[in-house]
Amino acid sequence: MDILEKLKILSDAAKYDVSCSSSGSDRKNTKDGLGIASSSGICHSWADDGRCISLLKILMTNYCIYDCVYCVNRSSNDLPRATFTPDEIVDLTMNFYKRNYIEGLFLSAAVFKSPNYTMELLLKVVQKLREEEKFNGYIHTKAIPGADKEIVDKVGKYVDRMSVNIELPTEEGLKLLAPHKNKESIFTPMKLIKTGIMQSTEERKIFRSSPKFVPAGQTTQLIVGATQDHDLKILRLSEGLYNSYNLKRVYYSAFIPVSNNPKLPVLKSPPLVRENRLYQADWLLRFYGFQAKELLDEEKPDFDLALDPKCDWALRNIQLFPVEINKADYDTLLRVPGIGVKSAMKIIQARRFTSIDFYDLKKLGIVLKRAQYFITCKGKYYGIKSMDSEIIRNQIVEKIPMEKNHHQLSLFDKVSLEDKYIQIGGQL
Ligand code: SF4
Repeated sequence: MDILEKLKILSDAAKYDVSCSSSGSDRKNTKDGLGIASSSGICHSWADDGRCISLLKILMTNYCIYDCVYCVNRSSNDLPRATFTPDEIVDLTMNFYKRNYIEGLFLSAAVFKSPNYTMELLLKVVQKLREEEKFNGYIHTKAIPGADKEIVDKVGKYVDRMSVNIELPTEEGLKLLAPHKNKESIFTPMKLIKTGIMQSTEERKIFRSSPKFVPAGQTTQLIVGATQDHDLKILRLSEGLYNSYNLKRVYYSAFIPVSNNPKLPVLKSPPLVRENRLYQADWLLRFYGFQAKELLDEEKPDFDLALDPKCDWALRNIQLFPVEINKADYDTLLRVPGIGVKSAMKIIQARRFTSIDFYDLKKLGIVLKRAQYFITCKGKYYGIKSMDSEIIRNQIVEKIPMEKNHHQLSLFDKVSLEDKYIQIGGQL
């Protein structure tokens, strides 16, 4: 099979993995090297079908010994298979980089022969790229569940980021849909990476030349909608991962039906709105000081698909509003729907000099579409003269038509500037 045919098969097979992003690394170029991971040229843009468009995103192989029923590469699936040799991937990466097609490599793999054997292949690629080709661009690889510590350690010294995909939020889900995997085989490499990062950070405080270990941190991916698990379960898991394993990101991937297996739910289309709500809630956990238990509970275990999670929380806690924009502290401002991290900082800075009114907020570029119902400015309320949560909800839902949220965000969508700002900037 020629290299182009392999590339077609193995880049297509990689598109279901959304756990790649190229930010967070500061690897510099060297005198005799090529590439730099820290420049602004490295970004994480996404094509409509989920592929990252700035990294060479491929699988080393799509031959898999496992048979996860939700996965297109499962061993029982009849599809064209291919495997790159390590040299082929190195050549592709170097040639694409030199032509300015890519800014780095996202290299994943199905489980070929065994977890350790697969990791050995990944090691050959990254070792050759760094040591022989002096490639200093961004590299993100997988840590294969079940692989030994030694091999994870070796790979971690060459790459910027690693990810171990959890895929399903519960042990029961794994037993049902991915019986060859278990929680332990997934969490063990995650723990190894966390320990390696901490050790390397400590060593580098003493010896600046100590090798970095996975300097851009680790990520994971969770599939949404392949099991009956509620959003609450997923969000609690993400919170635990951020707290216990210092994950950089949890990526959520709406389940795409790739099989008629009766163990899988029957879905008309991938649950993209739900995926979007989980991303928004994840943002609230990481940057807004929310806890999973504030956003959802056993009585309400799933997000309202018609409202973003912060609006939903505010309406369920309407007694806390409206807040006076000139008096509220930073943490309280952050809880106002529509006021994000940047907006809250702008307000705090601006009111050092003057007291702010509604029009000043507009001049500061603050999006008031949602915020108007939850704030006062100099004691004046600009909402609908009612603090009834149901009435406010109807106003907000009416202004955010559901169909806008029914597809994945694209660079080329005809979305209003205000909505783009909210979605891209995460200013919830
Ligand atoms: S181990 Fe990975 S590649 Fe193999 S079937 Fe499971 S999810 Fe797919």
